[in-house]
Amino acid sequence: MSPLFKCFSCGQDIERSKKTFWKKKGHILCSTCQDKIEEEINLSRRNNIKSLENFQQRPY
Ligand SMILES: [Zn+2]
Repeated sequence: MSPLFKCFSCGQDIERSKKTFWKKKGHILCSTCQDKIEEEINLSRRNNIKSLENFQQRPY
């Protein structure tokens, strides 16, 4: 049985291998929080691209 760790974001108990724990340096997220964070990263990336496009389309 894998040991239980607490999700770094919401504190929920999650099963992860010790290997994952050390790889992530203790910052382990449950799948829900992982999805949320990935979504946020994708959104901010999209916003960055959009603002870059606006910047390039500005007439001078
Ligand atoms: Zn969580």
